[in-house]
Amino acid sequence: MMSNLYALFAANFPADRRTCCIETHDGLQYSWDDIDHASGRMANLLASLALPAGSRIAAQIEKSPEALILYLATLRAGFVFVPLNTAYRAAEIDYFLNDATPALLVCAPSAFGWISKLAFAAGTRQVLTLDDQRQGSLLERAAVQPDFFETVAVTDDDLAALLYTSGTTGRSKGAMLTHRNLATNAQVLQQYWHWQAGDVLLHALPLFHIHGLFVACHGALLNGSKMIFLPRFDSATVIRQLPHATVFMGVPTFYVRLLADPAFDHNACASIRLFVSGSAPLLLDTFDNFIARTGQTILERYGMSETAMMTSNPYDGARIGGTVGLPLPGIALRVVDEHGHPCASGAIGAIEVRGPNVFKGYWQMPEKTAQEFTADGYFITGDVGCFDERGYLSIVGRSKDLIISGGYNIYPKEIESFLDELDGVEESAVIGVPHPDFGEAVVAVIVASKAATLTAAGVIAAMKASIANFKVPKQVHFVDELPRNAMSKVQKNVLRERFG
Ligand code: AMP
Repeated sequence: MMSNLYALFAANFPADRRTCCIETHDGLQYSWDDIDHASGRMANLLASLALPAGSRIAAQIEKSPEALILYLATLRAGFVFVPLNTAYRAAEIDYFLNDATPALLVCAPSAFGWISKLAFAAGTRQVLTLDDQRQGSLLERAAVQPDFFETVAVTDDDLAALLYTSGTTGRSKGAMLTHRNLATNAQVLQQYWHWQAGDVLLHALPLFHIHGLFVACHGALLNGSKMIFLPRFDSATVIRQLPHATVFMGVPTFYVRLLADPAFDHNACASIRLFVSGSAPLLLDTFDNFIARTGQTILERYGMSETAMMTSNPYDGARIGGTVGLPLPGIALRVVDEHGHPCASGAIGAIEVRGPNVFKGYWQMPEKTAQEFTADGYFITGDVGCFDERGYLSIVGRSKDLIISGGYNIYPKEIESFLDELDGVEESAVIGVPHPDFGEAVVAVIVASKAATLTAAGVIAAMKASIANFKVPKQVHFVDELPRNAMSKVQKNVLRERFG
């Protein structure tokens, strides 16, 4: 028997529950008591709806304290939370509703018209609304409920959330995460990152993704630490708020944008003890420039929806740029060759992971789930990487992004690193496109810096001088920016469609 994840948080709330748990950008303060009572009212409402056991509760709502409270209420009532990216439009929402078949959907009041039609057609029983200004039927209905709710007991295997993968390489799948997956991962990170008394988290990430909802919020909730909630990332606001915080978590784009702002300097982050980056690769340039500008070293970690966090650079030891650090305590992670044998350090292979963090499987896809696990119980992450001799892991890319040209394996990351070194290249993405002769051919997509006078022929000539011919891009395209999803991952599928 494992206690409900919410019960674990509540047991760690500060002794004085009148202190602040969430402060919003516009000055509202929610105490720990407020969070407990508001989630209690909402959990009572959920319980009153007589939803079947194990019901999914889907939410496509803007970030707000109430959005987090809805997640907590879902945990407390023993249901399964399904956060949906606010950028999703009708076709995507229709897919998720038919796949997750939630009993309840919470959406923005302005979206109620079209979204409720889709929901009812997919069999959803109830649609309630919530906006980021505390308006909507969810809060109206919860307001008349009692504050007190006895958080339900759950078992190790009970689902807490269904998290749809970002689907940069295919259709989104629902990753089933249990209370135990999330609780153990939060506890490991609390220790590993030295969460401490007096910590304040500046929260600028969205709440529909593992990074903002689990890594960030769980860290603060488990540690009884205050969060400053920003509706979205905006460098000026972040720079203004940093002096009130001690911990900041971001995707690499946040750090690139902070560095682009001359107001971001040593002083702006003097109170921060920990900057964390993840969800996408942090460029070495960003890592180095951050040290030069602020004197602080970003801690990069690696995880995914299916596994929560797997590796992290150390808090005390060396944080090495371009790596995602060491496997977290209690988590077994290996890099294997095509025969499933562990690779020597420096050799690139498939990343596999086993531990209490690893999800229960893909929602209603038992065959797909079985395919993604090895006989000895490791989850095949789909990422490719290598360990160095110190045991630090580097990610080379997704296995599906691997290019096989003329029988040779080509890792896009390697070519991207060479391209990024060229004068005038701001960033790059390398993809494989079908080629009649080679099977696939390497294509480079480059964002050039403003003053650059690069040409495709020039880039190809420069690459010929530094890497083997079969890796040299056959075509080079210039774009203003790379297509990225909400978590700043480059959407290589979009590039393949466009340039394939
Ligand atoms: P998601 O499930 O949306 O969190 O996406 C997980 C994927 O993001 C992983 O499988 C990796 O491919 C990528 N990812 C996450 N963190 C990092 C990182 N620090 N460096 C490189 N890739 C990362």
